[in-house]
Amino acid sequence: MTLASTTFSDFHRQSLQNPDAFWAEQAKLIDWQTPPQQICDYSNPPFAHWFRGGTTNLCHNAVDRHLKDRANQPALIYVSSETGIEKTYTFAELHTEVQRMAAILLELGVQQGDRVLIYMPMIAEAAFAMLACTRIGAIHSVVFGGFASVSLASRIEDATPKLIISADAGSRSGKVVPYKPLLDEAIALSSHKPEAVLMVDRGLTAFASVAGRDHGYAALREKHLQASVPCVWLDATAISYTIYTSGTTGQPKGVQRDTGGYAVALAASMVHIFEGKPGETYFSTSDIGWVVGHSYIIYGPLIAGMASIMYEGLPTREMDGSANAGIWWRLVEKYKVTRMFSAPTAVRVLKKQDPAYLKQYDLSSLQGLYLAGEPLDEPTAKWISEALGVPIIDNYWQTETGWPLLTVANGVEKMPSKFGSPGIPMYGYNVKLLHETTGEELTEPNQKGVVVLEGPTPPGFMQTVWRDDARFVNTYWKSVPGKLVYSTFDWGIKDADGYYFILGRTDDVINVAGHRLGTREIEESISSHPNVAEVAVVGVADALKGQVAMAFVIARDTSALQDEAARLKLEGEIMKLVDGQLGAVARPARVRFVSLLPKTRSGKLLRRAIQAVCEGRDTGDLTTMEDPQALQQIRDLMA
Ligand code: ATP
Ligand code: MG
Repeated sequence: MTLASTTFSDFHRQSLQNPDAFWAEQAKLIDWQTPPQQICDYSNPPFAHWFRGGTTNLCHNAVDRHLKDRANQPALIYVSSETGIEKTYTFAELHTEVQRMAAILLELGVQQGDRVLIYMPMIAEAAFAMLACTRIGAIHSVVFGGFASVSLASRIEDATPKLIISADAGSRSGKVVPYKPLLDEAIALSSHKPEAVLMVDRGLTAFASVAGRDHGYAALREKHLQASVPCVWLDATAISYTIYTSGTTGQPKGVQRDTGGYAVALAASMVHIFEGKPGETYFSTSDIGWVVGHSYIIYGPLIAGMASIMYEGLPTREMDGSANAGIWWRLVEKYKVTRMFSAPTAVRVLKKQDPAYLKQYDLSSLQGLYLAGEPLDEPTAKWISEALGVPIIDNYWQTETGWPLLTVANGVEKMPSKFGSPGIPMYGYNVKLLHETTGEELTEPNQKGVVVLEGPTPPGFMQTVWRDDARFVNTYWKSVPGKLVYSTFDWGIKDADGYYFILGRTDDVINVAGHRLGTREIEESISSHPNVAEVAVVGVADALKGQVAMAFVIARDTSALQDEAARLKLEGEIMKLVDGQLGAVARPARVRFVSLLPKTRSGKLLRRAIQAVCEGRDTGDLTTMEDPQALQQIRDLMA
């Protein structure tokens, strides 16, 4: 199936027409203790069970399996520009550390199926902890280290962990962010109390310990230096972890993932989509608190036998704390990174810096930059593509899917990327566009519809909502009347070549005097103005037109915003631009200028919060928001 002669369209067709044969072949990419007895069990839709009867282990496939051929090759490359620490762990060393951590988990009473909540900064011990959990069959639930106690408490409540692993502090731009007080407060807020807390002391800040409950990692590690903890062979359908969605559109949902399907999906994606080779280096700039961190910092690259860079810090700061917006590229040069994964929001940060930062390092090892998480606007894509001179590969997915749903699979067949489009449906995904109200399938090119999936969903896809099958079915599979389809809750169109374009979230569509417009289209048009660095467009209730578009713009050159006359001039230019590209109906009622936009901690625009402020409504759950200042600016402007 990986023969060079296979076209992607054949490959994709086989995956849908004969999923059992297709995925049985992909399953050979990982090690099994017992081979699967049944490839796909879809006897109870929409629940898809993959590789029933097979037993395997994620940690074995990520670590132990490579000891034979590459024990002394780098596995985890830890780089922190916050603490100046840079350390490489070979596969053998990683194996040793993971076993020590696993022995600690066992000593603290963690058993197969128990939850371990990981609330940690980007330190190597967090990777050891995740791998140690999957090694012994415990279910990890990583909570982004930047979350405050209320968000953390709700996740403790939901995951009911036996053990929580944490650290004294995180660090942001050299500023210590203590974690332990937040953790203690979260445990106090939650009705569920963990039996034990394991604390990694980075020496950043002092913290109080609760006698009998809290344990120090260093001492326990010392005790288990010689630990040998074998991998537990788990049923392919055993739960490996739970993780929450970003909370961009509302309450985060607890996504539950399996073991065997996830391992196979990641192994296949490393070959077909990321083209990563054993011995090469992969660098994902994400965080272990997000799904990208799970799939493409920890499990994916390691399963592929690659070294993975785990980076703590800003993209604009050097190891010694000095400014360097080129640090990521310096790491690419130093570690000969071949594949890099980041997010448009990070590229926009770099785009505001001097492009000279990109030119001072040898980037010849780099073969592709993959970007995901939110729409990649054309100006940003062009800028980074010209600056790096490597293919920029947009990929669209969700926490729920676990791996890309729309992109190009250059490992199967080289295909061009199109600016503005994340690509075409990946193997295993039966993607359809449905009419929003009638639910009818849209088959003509360039028709706007809701992006949905027909089951069975592929390996790696969420199994269900943690402890809530009914919520899984009702939230995701019941939005189109009369059809059992999975809704992504994103709008899209498909062009004549089969490339999809994501137009935004289904709740981000605005209706101006009967015309339905995606906020994304308007944002795309506005961001083509040379003085626009970032933009958010929301629909705001209007007595006359139903809704009008409001635009909030971060200008690249703020000297163009000196006084009201200058602001009005730029606003006029932007409106004219939208008029010309999309028509007067899409023209925003106002274009307002801000220095910050409200985003989730994962860098996604919080349009629902902006909209609520504009309409004078309650903003709802803001616990996933990055910077409260951003919303205040908009409040002030709208007052
Ligand atoms: P919640 O579901 O809790 O509201 P969320 O949808 O932001 O949060 P994630 O799973 O982290 O949580 O994000 C997935 C969403 O991000 C997609 O549904 C889509 O809206 C957006 N997205 C991801 N990648 C892309 C991309 N390449 N292009 C356009 N949009 C993208
Ligand atoms: Mg979502």
